[in-house]
Amino acid sequence: MSLPSTLRIPLALLLGLAGAHAAEPAAPPAPAVEWAVHDPARPRPVPVPPRPAEALAALSTPPADAVVLFAGDDLTAWRPSSWTVREGYIEVTPKGGSLVSRQSFGSCHLHLEWRAPTPVSGQGQKRGNSGVFLLGRYEIQVLDNHENTTYADGYAGAAYGQNPPRVDPCRPAGEWNTYDIFFRAPRFAADGTVTRRAAVTVLFNGVPVQTNFEFTGLSTHKKSPVYVAHPTVAPLHLQDHGDRVRFRNIWVVPLAD
Ligand code: MG
Repeated sequence: MSLPSTLRIPLALLLGLAGAHAAEPAAPPAPAVEWAVHDPARPRPVPVPPRPAEALAALSTPPADAVVLFAGDDLTAWRPSSWTVREGYIEVTPKGGSLVSRQSFGSCHLHLEWRAPTPVSGQGQKRGNSGVFLLGRYEIQVLDNHENTTYADGYAGAAYGQNPPRVDPCRPAGEWNTYDIFFRAPRFAADGTVTRRAAVTVLFNGVPVQTNFEFTGLSTHKKSPVYVAHPTVAPLHLQDHGDRVRFRNIWVVPLAD
């Protein structure tokens, strides 16, 4: 577009091109947030077919250097809880609180499988809700989204409250879904300023739904996220949101920064 020359300088000022003397931020500015938290007008992810379970099975086997957190029969890798172990899976006990790993992790590859309860009941955020909290603070949402819509940043595979999954490959309740979460832990300066944001890539049933998304802060509900300094490693949390979501085959490969 060609602009009259009289408009060019004022436009440059408006775009901040004359602001070269501003102080350097601790980390590059986050991309402008286009949508409000849980914005109902935000476009929802479109359902797509998941990769076939047979195609995912081989990659679901823990590699030799993985820390296995649940292989099907006991909860010894987790702090005491009222969650139940049944035939090869663990299940949320409503009002039982989060399930918290004994071991702490920082940057890592986390694999787990989950399935929403049947018979299906509730709708929106009240259907098969749980969550995977990296460092106990950064949530990848778990939700039964099969024929169940909600606000975009609350879909399964969302960086909850921040970034919707790119698409929606959720299987129906009663079928197992896989998450492969590649997480980069954040870093903070001594004064608590974030110097490197937490970032995440997520394969949901083999489909990329987050690709190097940088969290804008700790996961929250109905609030704008902010960073609050915390240790570089912390336990993994699985959320009790009142629904009997099941998990199995949980392992972590710690990754170097
Ligand atoms: Mg949740």
